Amino acid sequence: MVSRREIPPPEAGARLTIDLGALVANWRDLAALAAPGDCAGVVKADAYGLGIAEAVPALAEAGCATFFVALPVEARQVRAAAPEATIYVLGGFAPESAAAFDEAGARPVLGSLAEVEAWAALCHAEGARRPAAIHVDTGMNRLGLSADEVDALAARPELTESFELALVMSHLACADTPEHPLNARQVDRFTSLRARFPPTPASLANSGGTLLGPPYRLDLARPGIAVYGGRALADRPNPMRPVVRLEARILQVRTARAGERVGYGAVQTLTRDTRLAILAAGYADGYIRAAGGADGRPGASAYLGGHRAPLVGRVSMDLIAIDVTDVPEIFVKSGNYAELLGDNFTVDDLADRAGTIGYEVLTRLGGRVHRVYSGE
Ligand SMILES: *Cc1c(COP(=O)(O)O)cnc(C)c1O
Repeated sequence: MVSRREIPPPEAGARLTIDLGALVANWRDLAALAAPGDCAGVVKADAYGLGIAEAVPALAEAGCATFFVALPVEARQVRAAAPEATIYVLGGFAPESAAAFDEAGARPVLGSLAEVEAWAALCHAEGARRPAAIHVDTGMNRLGLSADEVDALAARPELTESFELALVMSHLACADTPEHPLNARQVDRFTSLRARFPPTPASLANSGGTLLGPPYRLDLARPGIAVYGGRALADRPNPMRPVVRLEARILQVRTARAGERVGYGAVQTLTRDTRLAILAAGYADGYIRAAGGADGRPGASAYLGGHRAPLVGRVSMDLIAIDVTDVPEIFVKSGNYAELLGDNFTVDDLADRAGTIGYEVLTRLGGRVHRVYSGE
């Protein structure tokens, strides 16, 4: 199980609310797009930081029968949360991890000829044709059999016959950029490579691919980020519901004069007399440090009662300063919470401001916050 240091609300500086209802509704929308194909859930990295132990049962209940993780240890967490599920491990197979695959009842995604040989040898030794997926590379050059390895494998049918080939998959490198020419090229390469195998269900689409359209969806879609409410396609409106809300407690409210500076490095000078609220959250809670403010470069925004309060100065390890001058007094009291992530300022808004992607924002959301699961 995931070990999570639970921080009781009065002691925690920040509160992370994860809306499992929105998460499930997002998955259902993606599953409707994927139909008549199936839709899996990608839950690697503790369900993108949101909690395998909570997200997986909710998805399984909604009808998600297949989960993808990166590592065998994550497969074990998924198995504990979804006893009936089919679980694929994207990171492939090494003989040392055979016991972990057994224990989790997980299937490897075999990504090289050596891994295919190792799985075939295991099945041979056990006298059981255990299921696995094969990953073929179609242009990303990360994991997956190259075209040459697919040729070599085709010349050795006894290898693929020694286990149950349950899925042939590949992964899109540029699905977040619909007009990128590599997308269509990967579909073409995948079509010709999968034809080298006996008829087998096929999977190509991550979240972006699922949104891109029918040529990408095939038999099984593998969305991750869109399930968690993140933006899958760049420069398009995001059709998914936000899933996370991060709020931080106001520790104190203070006034500083025009011309004074705020925070480490004194990188932001106040241009007016300013009311500042100091929040009990910082980069140690997963909030991205690069989203702070500086002269000539506005920072991210917080919201109080729907009113915007821009960050001022650098984000500290445990503290963030915001400008609440324009926020009605009633919302600005020590002990109140300010929203750092949510419907007003999303995970992707923060990522854009900090020069990263929503995936990184989500997977960093921290071990020091009080977690609340809602909407079950
Ligand atoms: C992480 C991952 C996914 C999910 O990608 P998203 O962009 O989060 O939808 C799908 N397939 C593979 C192989 C992955 O590594």
